[in-house]
Amino acid sequence: MIFDLHSHTTRSDGLLAPRELLNRALEQGVDVLAITDHDTVDAYRDLPAAVQRIALVAGVEFSTRWEHTGIHVLALDIDLASAAIDAAVRFQTAARLTRARRIAEILEKMGVEDALAGTSGYAADGYIGRPHFARHLVAIGRASSVQDAFKRFLGDGKSCDVKQHWAELPQIVRWICEGGGIAVLAHPLKYKLTRTKLKRLLSHFVEVGGQGLEVISGQQEAQHTAAMAQLCEQHGLLASAGSDFHGPGKPWAELGAIGALPDNVTPVWERFS
Ligand code: AMP
Ligand code: MN
Ligand code: MN
Ligand code: MN
Repeated sequence: MIFDLHSHTTRSDGLLAPRELLNRALEQGVDVLAITDHDTVDAYRDLPAAVQRIALVAGVEFSTRWEHTGIHVLALDIDLASAAIDAAVRFQTAARLTRARRIAEILEKMGVEDALAGTSGYAADGYIGRPHFARHLVAIGRASSVQDAFKRFLGDGKSCDVKQHWAELPQIVRWICEGGGIAVLAHPLKYKLTRTKLKRLLSHFVEVGGQGLEVISGQQEAQHTAAMAQLCEQHGLLASAGSDFHGPGKPWAELGAIGALPDNVTPVWERFS
């Protein structure tokens, strides 16, 4: 059985529409898929209630902060009809739009005309992420690639790195639990924290109700998988695995192209209802 519990569609910053994503997952031999767009569950509106040949796990990836680090928390196996998930998504959507307006103001001061309107053309209704600003900056010749746009304007510490008003971590985890889901800390190695600091984050995460750690995020070295599995054991966390697929052409983050979880962890899917 191939589980891929982390993926994105055009409803956030992915390149495939929800149905296209499902088709690609099937082609890649995925048996169980979670669509986890950033701060939105709109992809599920575009899909039929019953999908054949693949089991869908309802999910979302929430943006939040711990101390000074931006972190992502996956909500897996949520009840899409729950008031808590609805509240969470509404809050985060508003925060995202406020941030988008701020980023657009800064870009306009830098001579980028109609930054918000231009960027909106790359994004789904009511949703704008930094990758959409990046695509617009590339299209108008202000950056040579999406990567370059992050390096010059949108990344940490750059001119468009505005203060973000995401919901606080404990609130995010509470919403996930109330929404019937399991809160999983996403891609723990992406935050570039020291091991001591990561352990401190995990202690806090568990304290506020977090239950899982994404032990495998796309193609990664065996030593990283072993280290993350050890953290699961030490903190009593369930283990998750996902590609973090955003679009074709990135073999290190392809749907279903993830290794098996080690034997010493409990897979998060054992707790799915
Ligand atoms: P946002 O949720 O709007 O803050 O955008 C964050 C998303 O931007 C991440 O989920 C990645 O998909 C993408 N991203 C972050 N850093 C980079 C980068 N350096 N180059 C390309 N994409 C990036
Ligand atoms: Mn993304
Ligand atoms: Mn993420
Ligand atoms: Mn992701």
